[in-house]
Amino acid sequence: MRAEMSAPLPTEADLQMLFARLNLAHFDGEIGACSIAYNERFSNCAGRTTYRVPALIELSPKHFRRYPEALEETLLHEMIHVWCYQRFGETGHGTHFRRKMKRCGITSIHHDLGTVRPLQEASTRYIFRCEHCGMEALRRRLPSRSMTCGRCNPRRHDPRFPLTVYEVVEMRILGDVGAIAPKRAASRSPRAT
Ligand SMILES: [Zn+2]
Ligand SMILES: [Zn+2]
Repeated sequence: MRAEMSAPLPTEADLQMLFARLNLAHFDGEIGACSIAYNERFSNCAGRTTYRVPALIELSPKHFRRYPEALEETLLHEMIHVWCYQRFGETGHGTHFRRKMKRCGITSIHHDLGTVRPLQEASTRYIFRCEHCGMEALRRRLPSRSMTCGRCNPRRHDPRFPLTVYEVVEMRILGDVGAIAPKRAASRSPRAT
C-alpha cells in the first residue's frame, strides 16, 4: 500500500512549535506571530504565504502526506517570505529572499522541495482578494502602493476595502510544458536559477 496512510501530519499546534524552533534558529525570533494552517485545496503548490498582519502560512496536506520530509524546509521557505516582508517589504523571491535562503541552507526556490525533482517553478503570480466581497484578480506584479477593491468602492481608493495579496507560484511537471516555451534550448538539464 501507499505510504499515504502511515504518516500522520503534524497538528497545527506541532507546526507552531516547529515555527518557534525555526524562528529562533534562523531569525533570532524576529518573525512575529503567524497563522499556520493546512489547505486541502492546494493541488500544485506545497506552501503559500499571505502577506498580511498577522501573516498566514498555508501548507498542502496532500503534499506532505506523501513527502513528510519536505515539510520543515517548506515551512522555512515560507517563513523567509514573511521575514522579508516584515523587514524589507519584499515579496517573492527577490534579493533579500535569496540571500536569507542561502544563509538558512536552502538551495532551491522551488516551493515543492526535497526529493520532488519532477516539478519546476514556472512563474510567480499574485492573487488580489477582497475579503469584503470575495472578488479575486490575478496579476503578474505587485503594485507599489496598497490597493483597495474597485468593486466595493468604484469611485476612489478606500482603505475600508483593502485587497489581500497572495503569492502564487505555479508548478508544472517537466515534460508537460504545454504552451510554455522553454527559455533555452534543451542543451542543459533544467534547474532552478
Ligand atoms: Zn517562495
Ligand atoms: Zn470588494
